[in-house]
Amino acid sequence: MLYQRSSQLFAEAEKVIPGGVNSPVRAFKSVGGTPIFVQEAKGAYLYDVDGNRLVDYINSWGPMLLGHAYPPVVEAVIEKAKKGTSFGMPTEIETEIAALAVSMVPNIDKIRFVNSGTEACMSAIRLARGYTDREKIIKFKGCYHGHSDSFLIQAGSGAVTFGSPNSPGVTQGTAKDTLLATYNDLANVASILEANKGEVAAIIIEPVAGNMGCIPPKPGFLEGLRQLCDTHETLLIFDEVMTGFRLARGGAQELFGVRADLVTFGKVIGGGLPVGAFAGSAQVMDYLAPVGPVYQAGTLSGNPLAMAAGLAMLQAINNDLAVFERLEEKTAYLEQGMRRVLEAKQIKYTINRVGSMISVFFDEREVVDFDTAGYGNNDQFKTFFHGLLKEGVYIAPSSYETWFITDALTYDDLDFTIQAVEKVFA
Ligand SMILES: *Cc1c(COP(=O)(O)O)cnc(C)c1O
Repeated sequence: MLYQRSSQLFAEAEKVIPGGVNSPVRAFKSVGGTPIFVQEAKGAYLYDVDGNRLVDYINSWGPMLLGHAYPPVVEAVIEKAKKGTSFGMPTEIETEIAALAVSMVPNIDKIRFVNSGTEACMSAIRLARGYTDREKIIKFKGCYHGHSDSFLIQAGSGAVTFGSPNSPGVTQGTAKDTLLATYNDLANVASILEANKGEVAAIIIEPVAGNMGCIPPKPGFLEGLRQLCDTHETLLIFDEVMTGFRLARGGAQELFGVRADLVTFGKVIGGGLPVGAFAGSAQVMDYLAPVGPVYQAGTLSGNPLAMAAGLAMLQAINNDLAVFERLEEKTAYLEQGMRRVLEAKQIKYTINRVGSMISVFFDEREVVDFDTAGYGNNDQFKTFFHGLLKEGVYIAPSSYETWFITDALTYDDLDFTIQAVEKVFA
């Protein structure tokens, strides 16, 4: 494959955009090489500016559950755009999508729409802090909740339990209120809560981690968090930006049968337009302005184009719930195929999968948290990534990312992908 035009465009972009990209992971830093510029996409395929076709396993990092340029979403956006693209006044479609989301997701009465997953998580913890009148939050190492200050935190030094900034620009003052726990380690969470009695507003978690590769919660882990939260009167926030409307109609809450106090959404809920949302019981959500004291706002929140795309997407899912079985079957087929190849080639690997989230780590040890996810972040992954790319298969350019399977993939596409894996290790 040739990437001449992509390389040229990247060089031009670098002159006027920091690093040539508007979000860092797009820059191929962890795998090397220059990023590919997209011309267009349809269904399961991307077409780049050099005329290459790629089978897409990123799907805009999740939103394209039903494939690119999904006709009902595209039509809905075109029709809405003709009638004006933003008003800063209420529109009926906001209530329509809110009512549909509330009917699909368990344990939520009200939902507020924002413009990104980052905003949703940022607002959810502000609400949790306001509602509980407490300042600290617990997050898990390796979980991503967007780039707001409270979440850009890494493990502090030695004996301290509070975090320290992992980006310049995040203050120590902010970092001290974020406590870091280890994913899948309930005893660790219990001891942090005990040491900070009466001070923790919320625990926020990706119920299936997807931002350190795919890591499922161990049996009992989410249930244990629910119990700890009840004991400590701490709110449990499920960040379902990735899992929402992907793992089940009602997301991870439905899949695992565990209730969260607040849920955040993004990605699929916007059908490929910039949408985020956070939701919960009326009691908690009514703590938001204009009825409650916690401030949160947005000029373009509930934007009609974004709502039209999201509504068309949620309707498509809600009217065809078999989509989740198809996604499960397709992803399981891909998993089995890749396992066959990797075993035949005697490659050391671990594959983690929950529904249509899957990742391959190049290490045979179990991957259960951030530290173990690091084992597979190695040169073999880079070889795998660039090898697949050469064969026309596009996976995330980092081993710390999950693959997102779309229903637009056919079994021929999956066979093509499995054969590509075989060629990479030939
Ligand atoms: C993508 C993601 C976010 C951030 O969403 P943006 O729309 O990129 O701001 C937050 N949480 C999780 C779990 C995500 O996967």
